[in-house]
Amino acid sequence: MLDLWTEAVRSIEPFVKPAHRDLWLRPIECIAIDDDGHIRLRAPNRYHKEWFEDNFLPSILKDLEARAQRAFKVDFEVVEDAVAPPRAPAERRPAAPSTPVPLPARPPELMDRYTFDKFVVGPTNQFAHAAARMVAESPASRWNPLFIYGGVGLGKTHLLQAIGHEIHCQHPEWSIAFVTCEKFVTDFIGSMMSQRRSSAGSSMEEFRARYRTAPDVLLIDDIQFLSNKDSSQDEFFHTFNALHYAHKQIVLTSDKLPAELPGVEDRLRSRFTWGLIAEVETPDLETRVAILKRKAELEKVTLPDEAALYLAAHVKTNVRELEGALLRLAARASFQGQPISLELARDAIAKLVASAPSGLTIEAVQREVAAYFDVKLHDLKGPKRHRAVAHPRMIAMYLARKLTSMSYPEIGSRFGGKDHSTVISAVRKIERLCAEDPAVRSVVNTLEGHLRQP
Ligand code: ADP
Ligand code: MG
Repeated sequence: MLDLWTEAVRSIEPFVKPAHRDLWLRPIECIAIDDDGHIRLRAPNRYHKEWFEDNFLPSILKDLEARAQRAFKVDFEVVEDAVAPPRAPAERRPAAPSTPVPLPARPPELMDRYTFDKFVVGPTNQFAHAAARMVAESPASRWNPLFIYGGVGLGKTHLLQAIGHEIHCQHPEWSIAFVTCEKFVTDFIGSMMSQRRSSAGSSMEEFRARYRTAPDVLLIDDIQFLSNKDSSQDEFFHTFNALHYAHKQIVLTSDKLPAELPGVEDRLRSRFTWGLIAEVETPDLETRVAILKRKAELEKVTLPDEAALYLAAHVKTNVRELEGALLRLAARASFQGQPISLELARDAIAKLVASAPSGLTIEAVQREVAAYFDVKLHDLKGPKRHRAVAHPRMIAMYLARKLTSMSYPEIGSRFGGKDHSTVISAVRKIERLCAEDPAVRSVVNTLEGHLRQP
């Protein structure tokens, strides 16, 4: 009977992204299938169970029922409910002293507005959000470290802090260290200097107690700041090892993938890949609208749909700019004593819009790129994968994203129905090549110059 389950799971695997397979599918264990059609599953935690039920269970059951020609019923056992968390810090610590010790307060660095309930989830951040939720739900149980990466203003710090809030809620007695990498480096240098001056030997000890011994969770923001800082890297290497060895959760954010971090030692980079890597990407139009509405609600401003859509269509680069545009609009409305309207939205971001070529269509981008590289338009939009068309296609996707107001899914659909993730990786790849390869940069600049001409 258990084979039946294994086969049903296998039947959906090809449709699941590899990262999701490892994260969500594999950890669900089938303990038994009773003769009366009762399936008993085991999930590591509640969050896992819910994700699995929402996303995978229906398809698996469908396959199973078709194979077995009967109906099934499913029951879950959630491991973390059954046993106490295996590595609760209380067990790791010496026996409680007789005088009550005050609980560590929520770290003052955690800001109220960076919680999970204020984070809007869409296709481009769904995975990172889910990974963050899971780590917050069961710290240090499975994915350690969690490495969140992506461009500026896309919600990395928000997610990192949300993890801190959530863990603090569930384990108020834990000590949660939230620190920017910059602060880690300054603290470290400060302790080294005062050590040299006083030779008392205490300040380095304090530093190590603060970062290596005290935290139950270490949340460290913008780890790319370690680039080319050798002694700080060395210190962080030992901090990381001490915490990881003691089964304390570590979460890092970065603007680059571990492998792409310049000036970071290999031994650190490899540690960053030990757990789970999750990317946050530029949100699509629908998510941008949802974010604006959520922000407006939180700021208690009334934002009509058409004004939200207008802002979201024109401010595409990142969420921080989107927020900025909304705040400017709200300020202008209140200054003029008017409600927010489409006209006001147009006014408020007129300058921004002027810098994008107006009326440029994706067809024009495709034609220009196809002509430049001498490939057929049909092939540019088609499925062929050899470099001679794949490379121009990526450039066309990149330029469409940069110069038109289309979202990733919209662009994908105009390239023969490709997935939005294909467009996102094309855009990132060309961005990277432009940064690294002067030849690519020059081609892209030339094409962009042509397209910007009226
Ligand atoms: P990063 O650390 O990636 O540069 P931040 O986490 O500072 O970006 O996010 C920039 C701003 O955008 C913050 O005010 C944050 O609350 C907001 N933000 C980013 N993503 C989202 C989202 N998905 N939902 C709601 N707000 C978001
Ligand atoms: Mg940040």
